[in-house]
Amino acid sequence: MNPAEQGRVAVIGAGPAGLSAAEALAARGAAVDVYDAMPSVGRKFLLAGIGGLNLTHSEPYADFVGRYGARRAEIDALLRGFDADALRAWAGDLGVETFVGSSGRVFPREMKAAPLLRAWLVRLRAAGVRIHVRHRWLGWSEDGGLRFAAPDGETQARPDAVVLALGGGSWKKLGSDGAWWPWLAEKGVALAPLKPANCGFDAAWSAYFAEKFAGEPVKSVGLRMRCADGRAFERVGEFVITAGGVEGSLIYACSALLRDEIELRGEAVCHLDLMPAWDEAKVLAEVSHPRGSRSLSSHLQSRLGLKGARAGLLRECLDREAFQDPRRLAAAIKRLPLRLVAPRPIDEAISTAGGVYFEALDARQMLAALPGVFCAGEMLDWEAPTGGYLLTACFASGRAAGLGAADWLAARRG
Ligand SMILES: Cc1cc2nc3c(=O)[nH]c(=O)nc-3n(C[C@H](O)[C@H](O)[C@H](O)COP(=O)(O)OP(=O)(O)OC[C@H]3O[C@@H](n4cnc5c(N)ncnc54)[C@H](O)[C@@H]3O)c2cc1C
Repeated sequence: MNPAEQGRVAVIGAGPAGLSAAEALAARGAAVDVYDAMPSVGRKFLLAGIGGLNLTHSEPYADFVGRYGARRAEIDALLRGFDADALRAWAGDLGVETFVGSSGRVFPREMKAAPLLRAWLVRLRAAGVRIHVRHRWLGWSEDGGLRFAAPDGETQARPDAVVLALGGGSWKKLGSDGAWWPWLAEKGVALAPLKPANCGFDAAWSAYFAEKFAGEPVKSVGLRMRCADGRAFERVGEFVITAGGVEGSLIYACSALLRDEIELRGEAVCHLDLMPAWDEAKVLAEVSHPRGSRSLSSHLQSRLGLKGARAGLLRECLDREAFQDPRRLAAAIKRLPLRLVAPRPIDEAISTAGGVYFEALDARQMLAALPGVFCAGEMLDWEAPTGGYLLTACFASGRAAGLGAADWLAARRG
């Protein structure tokens, strides 16, 4: 059977999720047209490559799937079809060897996305996938056609099935702008609002602190957070002070809890352990050590090694009187309250939470409200920390949506 007889499928969005869907569909013999708004494909994927392209993670499956929190069960179903090992094998087939870094994260040997994307596009085109860049989807026409803003003006497509893989709402300049959200809402698709995930936060820094410490890394500190709903976070890591607040890996890892707490209460208070390698008794002993004529700052520096941004945070987040009381001071060094008031805007976030509820999809990832329309990738309502979990779920859900569309077309043919 020629591809057109198997069915014509439009995949909208040429990030990892859309291209995975296209690959699965082409393998099942469908005629696939991929559309993307940008002048070239996979821009966010390429940007991820600039940070080393953390493709996936090597930890045991139970830990891996636990990273998807409330959506663990739904992502588990997707990963059963395409997991971290399958992703590594897939990259290997494209000639891109991967390795496990010291943290268990998996990267391509070359630490770049471009060679992988190049090889993938060659293989997709060889499989007959047609890619149309500079085609911005504008929603549906009144009679159900797909409307695109294309270089020669508006055009329409009427495929047999559609896979939407439009990404989330962060880094708009790379193509994903969340414009699809109201169009799907109007069609009766149940959607969660898009929110920043893996994002920085604003803190009400004093002008002095912001000016002195913006850009300074805060290394090897503990961060603890407990939410009213029972979720808890505790880890040692690092983050960066910004002019308006905080960002960086430790903050991103806790960002879902911080964001939800701010949404609920108007602010979030987490606790920093400025000396995670010491217990409080040792901190107290050193703080209480006679300091002679030395200032408290130089005392803390020489007895505890507390200086720079960590010492600055202590001054910024603790009231003056506490510095006169060694017990309060030692307790604060181990448990310094850090008050955060707002997440940074979604456009600055690494990823997006919210989007199409899994409950709006059937087992093939087809929208119950729009038969023949399938969804994949970051536009679905799940979130995960950085560590390769984002890309892995995008690949897995893209593949599942592609196979789901192929099955649906086959069932329709009877
Ligand atoms: C700085 C940065 C670093 C990252 N690093 C990592 C990492 O190392 N590891 C990891 O796992 N994840 C990482 N991520 C996250 C990861 O890149 C994303 O989760 C992933 O790219 C999402 O894939 P997707 O296919 O769902 O969406 P996207 O990659 O966003 O692709 C969606 C595509 O849809 C297109 N599109 C959107 N709207 C329209 C429209 N109306 N018409 C036509 N086309 C449209 C866009 O142009 C885009 O090409 C990083 C993200 C950022 C911002």
